[in-house]
Amino acid sequence: MPEGSPASRLDGSLQLLAATETLAGHLPPALKPLARVAYNYAWSWTREWPRLFRSIDPERWQRAGENPIRLAQEVSPRRMEELARDADFVSRIDRLAGDLERYLAEPMRPSQVPADRPVAFMCAEFGVHATLPTYAGGLGVLAGDLLKEASDQRLPLLGLGILYSQGSFHQRLDENGLQHEFWLETDAERLPAVLVRDLAGSRLTVEVPLRNRKVLAQVWRVDVGRVPLFLLDTNLAANSPADRLIGARLYVGDRETRLAQYALLGMGGVRALRAMGLAPSFIHLNEGHAAFAQLETVAGLVASGCSFEEAAGRARAVGVFTTHTPVAAGNDAFSADQMRATLDEVHLRLGLDWEQFLRLGRCHPDDPYEPFGMTPFALRMTGRANGVSRRHGEVSRRVWHDIWPGVAVEDVPIEHVTNGVHVPTWMASSVRNLLDEYMGRGWENNVSESHAWRCVQDIPDEVIWGLRNRLRTEFVAYVRERSVHDRLGRGQPIAYAEAAARVWDERVLTVGFARRIATYKRLYLISALPERALNLIRDPRPIQLAIAGKAHPQDEEAKRTVQQLFTMDAMPGVSGRVVFLEEHDMAMAARLVQGCDLWVNLPRPPLEASGTSGMKSALNGGLQLSVLDGWWAEAYDGTNGWAIPAREGLDAATEDARDASALLDILEQEVLPLFYDRGQDGIPHGWVQRIKSSMISIGPRFNTARMLNEYLARAPARPDPAERQQADAESTIRE
Ligand SMILES: *Cc1c(COP(=O)(O)O)cnc(C)c1O
Repeated sequence: MPEGSPASRLDGSLQLLAATETLAGHLPPALKPLARVAYNYAWSWTREWPRLFRSIDPERWQRAGENPIRLAQEVSPRRMEELARDADFVSRIDRLAGDLERYLAEPMRPSQVPADRPVAFMCAEFGVHATLPTYAGGLGVLAGDLLKEASDQRLPLLGLGILYSQGSFHQRLDENGLQHEFWLETDAERLPAVLVRDLAGSRLTVEVPLRNRKVLAQVWRVDVGRVPLFLLDTNLAANSPADRLIGARLYVGDRETRLAQYALLGMGGVRALRAMGLAPSFIHLNEGHAAFAQLETVAGLVASGCSFEEAAGRARAVGVFTTHTPVAAGNDAFSADQMRATLDEVHLRLGLDWEQFLRLGRCHPDDPYEPFGMTPFALRMTGRANGVSRRHGEVSRRVWHDIWPGVAVEDVPIEHVTNGVHVPTWMASSVRNLLDEYMGRGWENNVSESHAWRCVQDIPDEVIWGLRNRLRTEFVAYVRERSVHDRLGRGQPIAYAEAAARVWDERVLTVGFARRIATYKRLYLISALPERALNLIRDPRPIQLAIAGKAHPQDEEAKRTVQQLFTMDAMPGVSGRVVFLEEHDMAMAARLVQGCDLWVNLPRPPLEASGTSGMKSALNGGLQLSVLDGWWAEAYDGTNGWAIPAREGLDAATEDARDASALLDILEQEVLPLFYDRGQDGIPHGWVQRIKSSMISIGPRFNTARMLNEYLARAPARPDPAERQQADAESTIRE
């Protein structure tokens, strides 16, 4: 991040220092370094810090939701004094805090992104850590993983999003398996977040022209390693009650509020950057939600005298768009009336008439009935666009073909950059330690080099199997505790509540399915053939199944699926072996992907743009059983997991019946024998071999290091004025 220049002092860095000082003031002198660590999420992907925080006060750490700011505020002074006198503990803190300081102080790496002109990565959600309630699911977690990777790779980048005052919803199931939702106010004082202030010390605000008035937004800063994440917030007394709630809830159901959020994110985001004196070299729109950033950029250029065409050309030259949704219907679109009510006179700022503006958001500009789509608008207003897997690239070229009439489908300018996950965030420390031994220390700096991963083949089978047994055992303990707690909380009988604790067994094949419960993910296939599924669970070589995920509050169908699976557990002979874990979040996701032997994914093709939870599982030695869609279509090689073939063009019922039966066939005929057939030494060598193939083939490819470098390699060189003309000419042709 820029340092030293006066303008950069508007970026919240001073406020972060001040907040750190305040927190340090509550701590004994020897423990002061903890405050600095607590104010940067970099601790969360180290191996040692989470353990160190836990060791301060294990119960408090859990009750504080693994939030070091709360830990520092809430641990008793007596305990802190005791630790301050513990020379070993103090020297450990000093050493680890020193490591983190050195990490943060490393200079940016030379690239086409200059250190003082970072990439602005804009997204409606960021999943950085379970304590920061600014995410709902995969899109956010991917965005968070990317920030962490940019930090590790010393690439100048900043994140731009929304601080939802009520975040995403919390989930409870009742005794019938019906999902109930509730929201809690986000208490930013308890987060490693600070309000950005201006030079006079007042909170920095930007005006966003919305709803025929000016809505004010303030800006929070959260540090993710070297990467600052700026979060907009309209919850200000100066705003009307309705405007204060614009940024209250993630993926709010009300359409006009949703549109106002997108205006806040896009237009407010670009205005906030300007107000902070930050001039990004590229704007990366991660999903269409952020597309109005381009609108604000163009309006700024038009105000300084450019024509719309010239301004749009310049905005395109620095605009990158990643689409994450494979069907037109899944992309947000708004009626002309909704657009008018929220964005009012925006066309005037672009130098367009209203109809010309609406045409930018349609696939077929001449169709006056087509609503304004965020994705068509983003595609039209950026110079580079991509899907998130090879297959999703193909699908996107087909879906958005009409925007480029006369261009052959394969030439539609949408490429793909396959998603990846941030290895240090998702890989268990015990796996990281083991790989140190076989791949050599420092392997995490070269995580996308395949030859390094080949050493996994040399790890003795008993070592891998021992590790998997330990990870499964830890997970089983977690499930026992959580499920008893959840069941009692629902008011279920004690005998039933305790059944889960009794039945979950650390020797049993453990299967996981956890992600947002959207209908296209077809969780219901698991119970589509109930007799066969129940037999699998009751078998003398049984499986135990952990399910987690939230259904969108308005998605009644998905809620029914949750209920169906929930009731499966009450069937004779099953009781306890199928658990639904409430309140899926990043912390729970990590437990699941580390502890499960088999990770199941059943999307209806081609609706899985990528999927990332399976990548997290593979890093920990979990095996995949998935429909050949999204990332699995390019990862599966016949030796590293199992695949349910995708056949498009079937009607939904036929496809479901076929895939449900394929799922059970594979489980019965392949998965169970491979897991339970043991050698003389008690080790399932076939299973372990598959784990090795999976780690060797998936590890180096489906990570954010490879992904970030692909984005970087594709980014155009930053246009200087001479090149700009060329870029303009090209983008005109593209249209
Ligand atoms: C990784 C992750 C997801 C994404 O899961 P998919 O496999 O892409 O559906 C969703 N939610 C959480 C909390 C995650 O960590």
